[in-house]
Amino acid sequence: MAQLSDDCFAFGGRMMSVDEALALIASRITPIGASESVPIMQADGRILARDLVAPIALPPFTNSAVDGYAVRHAQLHAHDVTRLGVSGRIEAGADAAIAPSDATAIRIFTGAQMPEGYDTVFMQEDVVVGAEGLVELPSGLKIGANVRPAGEDIEKGSIAIPAGARLAPQHVALAAALGKTALDVAKRLRVAVFSTGNELVSPGEEQKPPRIYDSNRFMLMAMLQRLGCDVADLGILRDERASLAAALRSAACDHDLIVTSGGVSTGEADHVKGALEDCGSLTFWRIAIKPGRPVAMGVIDGTPFIGLPGNPAASFITQVYVVRPAVLALMGSAPAPVTPLPVRAAFNYKKKEGRREYARATLRRAGDGVIEAVRFPREGAGLLSSLVETDGLVELREDITRIEPGASVGFLPYACLF
Ligand code: AMP
Ligand code: MG
Repeated sequence: MAQLSDDCFAFGGRMMSVDEALALIASRITPIGASESVPIMQADGRILARDLVAPIALPPFTNSAVDGYAVRHAQLHAHDVTRLGVSGRIEAGADAAIAPSDATAIRIFTGAQMPEGYDTVFMQEDVVVGAEGLVELPSGLKIGANVRPAGEDIEKGSIAIPAGARLAPQHVALAAALGKTALDVAKRLRVAVFSTGNELVSPGEEQKPPRIYDSNRFMLMAMLQRLGCDVADLGILRDERASLAAALRSAACDHDLIVTSGGVSTGEADHVKGALEDCGSLTFWRIAIKPGRPVAMGVIDGTPFIGLPGNPAASFITQVYVVRPAVLALMGSAPAPVTPLPVRAAFNYKKKEGRREYARATLRRAGDGVIEAVRFPREGAGLLSSLVETDGLVELREDITRIEPGASVGFLPYACLF
């Protein structure tokens, strides 16, 4: 379990920028440090615990990149066609033991090992097979053409994948190409998820006014599962300080992180703050982000706690900018900042300077072929349709105050936020 000090989330400033929040998370959260070995087919989505050092080179031997004819470049005429006999044939997976003295070309196929002394391959499309089996090779091909030298991809002994990488199918391929059957990955983080609110019932229970179904808990659990966490669904907590404190204290014993949503504002019915003060320590983070509002950060018996706002869109955004980096940091990964892609705004927008805002938007290809972002037509941090019916978020950074249609804006597809 992560053992954090009670004051690790303290922050001097009044309103914290998104970048300050990310820097604080990166600097104050220490990884849990536990790892396990998993078969490569279970490594997708996990965090690599130790550098993967290449036990072999990739490719392991010099080979042909095309189907064609291997030659010694020194035998070619510089400014004229060269005619050579063909003295052998090497298919992929076949032995390349060819007598090296022959002044001939060798028929070779993609992936076949280059014969000793041969350094260049003509593509079969560029070669004319003439009378008596001679091949006519045009002039001008550079030495080393169409050859994949041993180690050009990965050198033996180099770091093929650094510790902290979040493994994707391409990493699984690289591990397999290096002959690995298993990888050391960070242990799954045990995350406790609660919702808070007297108005909430779970799907499957009876819902009638003034109750609503709890949706945040399921969104948060789904997002945490994508991050490779072991998620414990701890249900709904009532807006009552003592029972909240008891539930949080008990969850801190056997989890690496506790996440709640709702009840973190400063209203009379918001008891997360008080409960946290009773069972641990609390820091309010007023992050200059919209949708967002305050996020409660805290520590309960050394276990980090994050209390997200209740409105679903606010909960979603703060999950992305607070929970996700915290989860990755606890698993020993420093996520690279996600880079928004430039698209053309098809909307007007006015905003406060100094605050980061995210507009939910759909992409379309305009008549002139340029990709445009169309803003979701309705406002409201409570609208789940605004998240479901859009493709991602337009990031409106702190310095922006106004966007006119036609301006270039940064777009983040939802897929890169999980
Ligand atoms: P709160 O942050 O508790 O003041 O809640 C703000 C709004 O979000 C209220 O309209 C709540 O009903 C709603 N809300 C809070 N928690 C959830 C939840 N788990 N699922 C759906 N809506 C919620
Ligand atoms: Mg509430």
